[in-house]
Amino acid sequence: MKAIRVHEFGGPEVMRLEDVADPHAGPGQVVVRVHAIGVNPVDTYVRAGTYPTRPPVPYTPGRDAAGVIEAVGEGVKRVAAGDRVYVAGTLSGAYAERALCEESQVQPLAARVSFTQGAGVFVPYATAYRALFQRARAVPGETVLVHGASGGVGVAAVQIARAAGFTVVGTGGTERGRKLASDEGAHHVLDHHAPEYLDQLMSLTGGRGVDVILEMLANVNLGRDLNVLARGGRVVIIGSRGTVEIDPRAAMGRDASILGMTIMNGLPQELQSIHAALVAGLENGTLRPVVGREMSLADAPRAHIAVMEPGAHGKIVLLP
Ligand code: NAP
Repeated sequence: MKAIRVHEFGGPEVMRLEDVADPHAGPGQVVVRVHAIGVNPVDTYVRAGTYPTRPPVPYTPGRDAAGVIEAVGEGVKRVAAGDRVYVAGTLSGAYAERALCEESQVQPLAARVSFTQGAGVFVPYATAYRALFQRARAVPGETVLVHGASGGVGVAAVQIARAAGFTVVGTGGTERGRKLASDEGAHHVLDHHAPEYLDQLMSLTGGRGVDVILEMLANVNLGRDLNVLARGGRVVIIGSRGTVEIDPRAAMGRDASILGMTIMNGLPQELQSIHAALVAGLENGTLRPVVGREMSLADAPRAHIAVMEPGAHGKIVLLP
């Protein structure tokens, strides 16, 4: 089968499309015929060798995909050959025509959700869900700022928060990105490049501030985030690409909490609960992954450049 292989860490060009042996399902494993692959920023950090954990090389990148179960190993009970699934991590890498997974790494994909949409489920939606409910412990009725609402995690967060009964404010850096956030359920949208946008946010909340911030770029925003939190507010750091200076007094005065998170820290029972919620949301149509761009698997290097550029619009998906 064809797969993207990385033999040394480096720029996007280290990803090459190669022929590799087809995977075989051992006990408790399944082989997924991959129809679409989700590109996440983390795939670029791992490829560059800057992520805290490095896979042994050569490796095939990618955690997110959707497709059809092609073969199941001994003892597999939850899924059968022919089932449509979304993939939440793999043993062999997602940027390929087939992926070897543990049975627990595949989840049913509702018929109403396309494979390209299914490729944009796991990392974005599980992250948004975990940030909102398991880290911030947000409760319906609260106000949530999705700081970076135009990309994969942001769109997911907007849909989840809107469906669950929050007041949702989303930010985007382009008109197109703000329209997307608005179309997907944000009650208000703001431009995170505009000089006055946090003043506008305070006005929108009647001077009270927001209860929860889901932060996609903490190295730029964390210091100012603390000034727009309501008393008891929580900011969840989802993304950060550098360091930042903060005034701890801004947190003290509000009884505010700064919470880190990575989806990879999710405990098995937490992930089980997240998937139960996502599968239900995909089935009932409240969760609708948005695919902004489709590219061929061979175009993985260009996709890695694109996912790091400004002007996000949902997900970038690769087609094998
Ligand atoms: P993405 O699809 O590339 O979207 C990036 C988002 O960040 C866009 O909405 C973009 O808006 C926004 N952004 C750019 N400049 C911003 C600013 N100054 N203030 C606020 N937002 C800004 O990426 P993603 O998949 O949504 O992931 C977002 C971040 O979370 C990435 O850094 C990623 O590595 C991280 N992440 C972490 C976890 C975890 O487990 N902790 C999981 C998934 C993702 P415009 O393009 O419209 O300006």
